[in-house]
Order: sequence, then structure tokens, then C-alpha cells
Amino acid sequence: MPFQDLPARLAEVTERIERARERGGHGQHVTIVAVTKTYGPDAPLAAWNAGMRDVGENRVQEAISKMSEVPVGLRWHLIGHVQRNKVKQLDGFHLVHSMDSGRLADALAEHGAARGSAVNVLLQVNVSGEGTKGGYALGDVPREAARLRGMAGLTVRGVMTMAPFEAAEPELRRVFQGAREAAEALQQEGHPASDVSMGMSGDYEIAVAEGATLVRLGTVLFGARTA
Ligand SMILES: *Cc1c(COP(=O)(O)O)cnc(C)c1O
Repeated sequence: MPFQDLPARLAEVTERIERARERGGHGQHVTIVAVTKTYGPDAPLAAWNAGMRDVGENRVQEAISKMSEVPVGLRWHLIGHVQRNKVKQLDGFHLVHSMDSGRLADALAEHGAARGSAVNVLLQVNVSGEGTKGGYALGDVPREAARLRGMAGLTVRGVMTMAPFEAAEPELRRVFQGAREAAEALQQEGHPASDVSMGMSGDYEIAVAEGATLVRLGTVLFGARTA
């Protein structure tokens, strides 16, 4: 059976999340998004069989082909960059974590308005300011929050961030706190921005202690990716 140690890995991760949640004291509910990118459809199916209901993919096409091969009631999350000319392909997704620019926001809002139901999105924030990462600068969030408020085609559910790859714990905490504050700034503008998507296999316990509501976990659940 592929991914036969997934249930045991999930149990361990769930336990660690619970302890981190108690340490952090934010009182939030935490949902694991099982990141199945580069794996075949057996990965989302294994996630489903292990009791998970949320899976994440970073490429639109790869996700869409898996959706059709795994016809169970999973919620699909898009966690990677999407081009503006592909927004029409996002209808099968539960939540787009990677709304990383005002121009993409405009395209998503236009699509949501045209189809008659708002697209659920997270604002991707680049807290560390690394040039290699996409997303809004923290300083731009309040202005964008005000601009997006009038857009019926979008529902802004919160923020997503990626921490720098081998950062030490104080830097990780600073990044995660910045993301949480960005979600609060969105809420102050009236958005239902209660979700904070942050934390990957290497840093999810710190992210949860800092208030993550969605953690995006690949390696720690499925093992190292080869692709
Ligand atoms: C691949 C990926 C993850 C999962 O990474 P792991 O380190 O394998 O847990 C999380 N978020 C994004 C945006 C990714 O692309």
C-alpha cells in the first residue's frame, strides 16, 4: 500500500500541533493541508483514507488532473502562483492561498463576479522581504485591504506566508507574527480574514504557536519528494 505509514505520521504531527497550539495560547483551530504536489493521485487518496479532508497543490494543471482521478470530497487548496490568464480554471478549488498581487486580485475578482460567486482567497504576504518570494509587502496590506473591500467577486479569508528556508527561530517567529498582524489588518477593514496559512514541514510547530490556522505539510506526511 502506498504511503502506508501516513496514519502514524499524521498521528505524530497532530500531537505536535496540539502541543504547539497549547503553548501558543491563541486558541485557534488548526487544519492540516496535505501537500500532494509531485505525487500521483495515490497521495490525495491516502490523505482521504487517513481522515484528512484538505489537500494542497502548487500547480493548477497538476491539481485539476488529480481532482478528476480522486473523486472523493476533498477540499483542494491552491498554494502556488497562478497566472492571471488561468483564473477561469480555479473553480474546483476551495481556497486560493496564493493571491500575490493586485493585478491577480483584479483578475480573480472579475472571474468571481462573472460566475456569480466570490472566489475564496488568502492574501500572500512576503514578510521577510526576500526578493525570491512573491506576495504583498506588509506595508502594502492596509491599502490593498481597503481597495479589495469593494470587490464582490472576492472573499478575503486571511493571509498566507512562507518563511525563509533555513531561518533561525527568532526570525521565523517574526515572520509568522507579521503574517498574523496582516490578517488583523484585513479584519479591521471588514474582511472575514480569520485564516492564517503558515508553517511547512520544517517550521509548522512554531507557526502554530504563532497562530496558524492552516498548516501546509508535504514531506513530514508523505516523505521526501523526488521531483
Ligand atoms: C511544497 C510546499 C509546501 C510543503 O512543503 P514541505 O516542506 O514538504 O512540507 C508548503 N507550502 C508551499 C507553498 C509549497 O509549495
